[in-house]
Amino acid sequence: GYNFASGPSGLPAAVVERARTELFARADDGSTAFEQPFTGEAFGATLAHARARLKDLLAVPDNYHILFLAGGATQQFSMVPLNLLGDASHVAYADSGHWSQRAIREAGRYAAVTIAARYEGERPLAAPPLSPWCLPDDCAYCHITPNETADGIAYPALPDCGAVPLVADVTSCLLTAPLEVARFGLLYAAAQKNLGIAGMTVVIVRDDLLRRPAPLVPSSCDYRAQAAQGSRANTPPTIAIALAGMMFDWIAQQDGLAGMQARLQRKAALLYDAIDASGGFFRAPVAPGHRSPVNVRFELARPELTTPFLDYAAQRGLHHLHGHSAFGGLRASLYNAMPEEGVHALVTCMADFMRRYG
Ligand code: PLP
Repeated sequence: GYNFASGPSGLPAAVVERARTELFARADDGSTAFEQPFTGEAFGATLAHARARLKDLLAVPDNYHILFLAGGATQQFSMVPLNLLGDASHVAYADSGHWSQRAIREAGRYAAVTIAARYEGERPLAAPPLSPWCLPDDCAYCHITPNETADGIAYPALPDCGAVPLVADVTSCLLTAPLEVARFGLLYAAAQKNLGIAGMTVVIVRDDLLRRPAPLVPSSCDYRAQAAQGSRANTPPTIAIALAGMMFDWIAQQDGLAGMQARLQRKAALLYDAIDASGGFFRAPVAPGHRSPVNVRFELARPELTTPFLDYAAQRGLHHLHGHSAFGGLRASLYNAMPEEGVHALVTCMADFMRRYG
């Protein structure tokens, strides 16, 4: 079967096999990966490997720190303003949909939030140009969500924020395509979509942004302390980091990020073309040019067919195709672990369903 869930999503079969043997293997001291102390040599090697591999895949410049932190992306909604606000009193956020709104709500607890740009209805956010964006130059940073997982929207291009550091929640798109890290002050992504399993978030932060955090920041959430101690200021999510290292190896073997991008584009084109060619039986609400290749949002023209379609697909081993609860309808997440055969199977299933009900 195939798992089209938005997260946690599947892992590549090769990674599951490798995890099955390596995580349960016993080292000389009799311990498995689950039992290794986080300060010890064995886990130290796992951590260093994951960091080096990620640095390599993304060509992360030397003036950035790569942190592997416990918790999900939602925790970063707080950690980002708490750590980056410094002496500034306000921050800027682009409101592009569901997850950016969640980030905005959380940032509003710590700082005055300027809405730099807003997505209106089904009219996608245009970026660039930046001209309609409202970006005061004394805000601490500008936050964007380049791929809106729930809405199925992706930015066609990154905004130019000038001297204001650009911060991005790349939870649903990191490692699905090459990314120019130097354009960002900070990037963060929870691991459970494209980098492994739940419980860990990657933060990539430029060193000049490591400021003294606000006084009430928990010490485990202090980027400076975590950077100074190589993500081991407290116990990191050791198994999630081991799995991420295996995902990074697997991605490197598939031609790296260029390989991931080419495969993703083929998968997304196949599915969107099938939707667009269905004569309105299926439809994608997001305008071409702004459609996420990663989270394909679509729906049936006759909404009463949604549940029958989900049942029909599940009987054929195509699982978790329901849309986000805020939108309903359907959504297929095509993360790195989704093989092209899975999308072929989905497109065939859609055609068969249409013949039966169309
Ligand atoms: N940001 C984006 C873009 C997401 O897609 C998600 C989860 O779907 C989150 C944040 C929340 O992540 P977590 O559940 O790890 O807190």
